[in-house]
Amino acid sequence: MSEPASSLGRKVGFVSLGCPKALVDSERILTQLKVEGYDIVQTYDDADVVVVNTCGFIDSAVAESLDAIGEAMAENGKVIVTGCLGKRPEQIREAHPDVLAITGPQDYGSVMAAVHAALPPTHDPFVDLVPRRIDDNDMLQNGIGIKLTPKHYAYLKISEGCNHRCSFCIIPSMRGDLVSRPVDEVLREAEKLAMGGVKELLVISQDTSAYGVDTKYAERTWRGKAYQTRMKALCEGLSELGLWTRLHYVYPYPHVDDIIPLMADRNADGLPKLLPYLDIPFQHASPRVLKLMKRPGAVDKTLERIQRWRETCPDITIRSTFIVGFPGETEAEFEELLEFLDEAQLDRVGAFAYSPVEGAAANSLPDPVPEDVKQERLARFMERQATISEAKLADKVGSVQRCLVDAVDGDLGIARSMADAPEIDGLVQIQNAREAGLQPGRFVDVAIMGSDEHDLYGEVEIDD
Ligand code: SF4
Repeated sequence: MSEPASSLGRKVGFVSLGCPKALVDSERILTQLKVEGYDIVQTYDDADVVVVNTCGFIDSAVAESLDAIGEAMAENGKVIVTGCLGKRPEQIREAHPDVLAITGPQDYGSVMAAVHAALPPTHDPFVDLVPRRIDDNDMLQNGIGIKLTPKHYAYLKISEGCNHRCSFCIIPSMRGDLVSRPVDEVLREAEKLAMGGVKELLVISQDTSAYGVDTKYAERTWRGKAYQTRMKALCEGLSELGLWTRLHYVYPYPHVDDIIPLMADRNADGLPKLLPYLDIPFQHASPRVLKLMKRPGAVDKTLERIQRWRETCPDITIRSTFIVGFPGETEAEFEELLEFLDEAQLDRVGAFAYSPVEGAAANSLPDPVPEDVKQERLARFMERQATISEAKLADKVGSVQRCLVDAVDGDLGIARSMADAPEIDGLVQIQNAREAGLQPGRFVDVAIMGSDEHDLYGEVEIDD
């Protein structure tokens, strides 16, 4: 009797590090491994070979990736390295000379070739009947796609690479210039995810607002209608699916203004066509520092635009990220940033003390800020924003928020409102989840009864 594919002795362990874009790469590699009949196993002991998908963005991520490779080498000994750090093979070989193979990000073909070399594919009558290779169109078809996120939300990667050259960033040198997926391909993937039970799509890329510029906004057809490969048209298409659609990594181009009306607009069921949520990294507020960063520097205009967005869509949540202690940042320029926070009243903010990334142009800028000053500025920045965030959340007490339930643990339900992206924002803690019979992946209206600096607390109304 033929044995099922799962017992052919080709077992692969997988370690996935890095950002949501790397997670999507991991999902794709895992799906291809599954299509080819490899077993994905959970322990080093069970694995015949281990794939480590690495991150190489900042020095701490490089260290974490090298540690993960070291652990896999010590515990298993047969290791294939892929992902962003794979762009620097000499660094990996210096620390771990005996890894089997090193490939870069999105190089699915080379990862599979390395797996084939380590564990040659065997003929199997079950596996040989299914397609041997998947692409973006096939992903998730017939339920073969592997997702590493919970069933009810998924990352939707619309492009790779970036045409900007921000001086602190090495992503363009690792992932290349912008390459957008055709809009019909992205919409078909979203449609399949919706059919598979996904309730929330998290649109990711390196630069979401540049989507399609490399294709000259090529027009494609989906469900009998023409759509341009362009951010606004993509959002209009996604709004047809009746899901929550959340935009991440939106570079502050002027045309971002065009999508705000979609956030204010409602479908027939009351759902916003696009979640009123904008993840838009501003990075700094001093025109001179922004110029050194090679980012857009018209700060007055940014404040005006934020005001206009709020006029068009009063419940918009604006999330941003900032770098403090960038080389050359003076105390006065840092104060400008604090003033910007006061004026902009952003809902969610992430901040980092500048840390030099190997290969970044910013490393050669004069007047680096001493480490203790960077840390002191970061603490002041976070303290100032904490007051703003806390007040913004307190304003929501007494309101009713539509939430998506992520998990239920006894009486407690962990959910997110439209203002909360998974992993990076706050939560809505529902006190009576068991009584209300909540399940992960369900939408509920939550009466908000309390708040703190990060989270909201509330109850679901239960009819007697
Ligand atoms: S826009 Fe983002 S990915 Fe592109 S260079 Fe700037 S920081 Fe890097």
